[in-house]
Amino acid sequence: MHVVVLGGGPGGTAAALEAARLGAKVTLIEKEFLGGTCLNWGCVPTKTVLRSARIAWDAHNAAEYGLMLPKAGVEAERLMERKESIVEELRSQIESQTARAKIDVVYGEGRLLDAATVRVTNADGETDYHADALVLATGSEVFRLPSIDHGLERVWTSHEATSVLAIPETVLIVGGGVIGLEFACAYASFGAMVHVVELTPNVLPGNDKRVQRAAQEALEKMGIVFHLGQAATSVTQRGEHMYTELPDGQVIETDYVLSAVGRKPLSEGFGFPEAGIEMDRAAVRTDEYFRTNVTGVYAIGDLIGGMMLAHVAEEEGVIAARNAVRLYEFAEAEGLLAKLMHLPALEKIDYSCVPACVYTFPEISVVGSSRDSAKERGLNVVQAVSKYAANGKALGEGEAEGFVQIVAEMGTGAIVGCQIVGPHAVETIHEIALAKRHKLTVRDVAEAVHAHPTVSEAIRLACADAAAKCGV
Ligand code: FAD
Repeated sequence: MHVVVLGGGPGGTAAALEAARLGAKVTLIEKEFLGGTCLNWGCVPTKTVLRSARIAWDAHNAAEYGLMLPKAGVEAERLMERKESIVEELRSQIESQTARAKIDVVYGEGRLLDAATVRVTNADGETDYHADALVLATGSEVFRLPSIDHGLERVWTSHEATSVLAIPETVLIVGGGVIGLEFACAYASFGAMVHVVELTPNVLPGNDKRVQRAAQEALEKMGIVFHLGQAATSVTQRGEHMYTELPDGQVIETDYVLSAVGRKPLSEGFGFPEAGIEMDRAAVRTDEYFRTNVTGVYAIGDLIGGMMLAHVAEEEGVIAARNAVRLYEFAEAEGLLAKLMHLPALEKIDYSCVPACVYTFPEISVVGSSRDSAKERGLNVVQAVSKYAANGKALGEGEAEGFVQIVAEMGTGAIVGCQIVGPHAVETIHEIALAKRHKLTVRDVAEAVHAHPTVSEAIRLACADAAAKCGV
């Protein structure tokens, strides 16, 4: 069986590795760099820069910890060199991994000729690859607002912000979602004056209200100025200065404007609809098993929308590869290849157990539902909160302003969701993700002994409180 994967981001790479592990011959087509957005311009570069930002921020506040340090000076070039060497190291690890798995990695731009053939164009010309199963994983691209001229030299997206050797001294960020807030936090830590313009009344749209408030308050303490319920109606450049006009008449002058208003699936010009594949605007439409409407064609990751996160793309890649290989082999053995679409599907993902994280100071993480969204779905839930203000480790770390919030089902103690704002939140959330995935209750988590002093003790306390409220 020959599996062709189009796009070598985290989703496509995971699909290729899993298909190869299951014994398929695999061709992975990538037009630029293995690792995709995540490794080259997304997760890894931003978290690497945020690490430098954290050191600068801690140096700025060192006196509180009894340390007299000079103010951190930023050398953008060295910071970017460090980022680049980490990216290159990880890229070469993926290259070795795919080579060890005997995956044929082909560099070039792929386009569907039909639902089973991909034509790759590169410096060598054009080559066609026939697939028994095809996994589409072309990812996403930056969403560009029509009101912002992206041709202007000082208008950035996350792509430029992670590539250009410069840290702005003043910047206006359009978009108060995850990407906007992470850049805001990094630039403010380096000493920049940061404005954030957000269309909705709250930062981190779609999140729990207590989380939104805590994030805004913490970032305001860093000096970030929020313009909520506002849009950037016009952005102009005069010399080295950018002028952003807001609907309330304010005009904000900064060195740079960073547009961070989201991403959209990257699908145009790759021949998907022409091959008969159903689309939902820019996204490829799939069922919960990642099958498109066309037999043998699967799609995953940012390309299908939903939770646009690297670990989601990876998991979808693994599951799609398993479904593709197993269904194909079963159908082939039974002589049912033509009816592949109608065979029972195999695995899917429980998205309510997938954590989502924001790497600001403090960190934020969530899994499952908030109380409000659980109630909207008709669930009878309780909520318990444990504040880091009473946690010795958090106090010692100087990060005692956040909380752990647990949502559990009345009567059963089933974990419905968890929101954490506070130290190491992006790590500690996995305790709850694991418990939820394996259907443990808040009582089960509360009964597990947690080491002292740790910030995880706050999770235990919140679960113990939730268990009492649930009556379990
Ligand atoms: P991508 O990573 O976009 O990969 C798609 C690949 O397909 C690319 O390599 C592209 O070159 C290739 N391709 C496209 N078209 C073709 C074609 N026609 N032929 C051949 N190849 C093609 N997610 C997290 O989970 N955690 C984070 O902390 C995080 N931080 C982020 C920060 C930023 C600034 C950004 C922009 C994103 C961040 N994300 C984060 C999101 C994450 O990067 C994406 O969800 C993830 O990369 C999606 O993986 P993917 O494989 O679906 O697509």
